[in-house]
Amino acid sequence: LADLLGAAVGCSRPISELGWEPHSRQIGQTGKGVSPRVYFALGISGAMQHMCAVNADIVIAVNRDPKAPIMEMADYAVVADLKEFMPRLIEKMKAWKAEKQA
Ligand SMILES: Cc1cc2nc3c(=O)[nH]c(=O)nc-3n(C[C@H](O)[C@H](O)[C@H](O)COP(=O)(O)OP(=O)(O)OC[C@H]3O[C@@H](n4cnc5c(N)ncnc54)[C@H](O)[C@@H]3O)c2cc1C
Repeated sequence: LADLLGAAVGCSRPISELGWEPHSRQIGQTGKGVSPRVYFALGISGAMQHMCAVNADIVIAVNRDPKAPIMEMADYAVVADLKEFMPRLIEKMKAWKAEKQA
């Protein structure tokens, strides 16, 4: 999705602690601050230590838990499992881009 959008990828602390992304990509109190036009919170709970460093025009959250705190903070909140939602969103985005370029 980031490649399609020309977007940067950030992560939360558990992800950098697991070594899935380097600490340089961690957003939050003990990471970096970001000010994007659009912030996709994909499987982000919405902890203050993370969100305090997000200064976005628009927050789009996808989370399978409708009660996750991020759902209250987001401008657009989608209740879905990422494993099902992301491949579909990426396919739609590819189709939209191809249509735009045609
Ligand atoms: C002193 C201190 C400093 C900290 N500094 C930072 C910091 O700099 N940055 C930071 O990020 N955190 C920081 N933290 C940790 C912070 O408090 C949270 O624990 C952390 O942000 C949680 O990350 P998360 O939302 O990715 O993970 P989780 O809290 O584990 O949440 C995962 C979310 O993803 C959802 N989810 C899981 N699987 C799926 C799926 N398949 N489909 C859809 N949704 C799914 C869950 O419902 C859940 O809401 C700090 C904590 C302390 C005490």
